[in-house]
Amino acid sequence: MMAIIDGWLSSARHVPSPHFNQRPQGVIPHLLVVHNISLPPGEFGGPWIDQLFSGNLDPTAHPYFQEINHLKVAAHCLIRRDGEIVQYVAFDERAWHAGQSSYQGVDNCNDFSIGIELEGTDDIPYTEAQYQALTSITVALVNAYSLDPEHITGHSDIAPERKTDPGPAFDWKHYRALLSHYLDINPRG
Ligand SMILES: [Zn+2]
Repeated sequence: MMAIIDGWLSSARHVPSPHFNQRPQGVIPHLLVVHNISLPPGEFGGPWIDQLFSGNLDPTAHPYFQEINHLKVAAHCLIRRDGEIVQYVAFDERAWHAGQSSYQGVDNCNDFSIGIELEGTDDIPYTEAQYQALTSITVALVNAYSLDPEHITGHSDIAPERKTDPGPAFDWKHYRALLSHYLDINPRG
């Protein structure tokens, strides 16, 4: 199982981001939010996501970057197409990934959630390596934070007016089936 030490996955590549603050007093993360991102949109590989989440995206490298390089955003982790895991913010901290959002009637999901980005788009199938890595992270979080695997959702579910990720390409049934192999849960569709 993946080890989490002081909120950091020991086996991930660590790229500390300044885009976080403290969670409200006493709040332990109890929601996992699945996202997607690709930079430039639809292209994979390259250093751009690390740069955006670190606050140093070069606005001259691509026209689209001029629109987003001012954004102060970061997820806790990114899973690249080959399954590599990059971590930007400790899980105990409040990463700025969800924006205006609501889960089961509670607003400001950043306060109480962990955000995981999959490198991808809404419509291109994610890789098996990504599902495997996401499952490994999820199992580690369930064990470290007593996160209830019923409380896993997509960005589009907590910000439906604004967001579409992780999109129809994300195979929730497959993810659930992988999780059920490690956790005592019902692999419902
Ligand atoms: Zn998102």
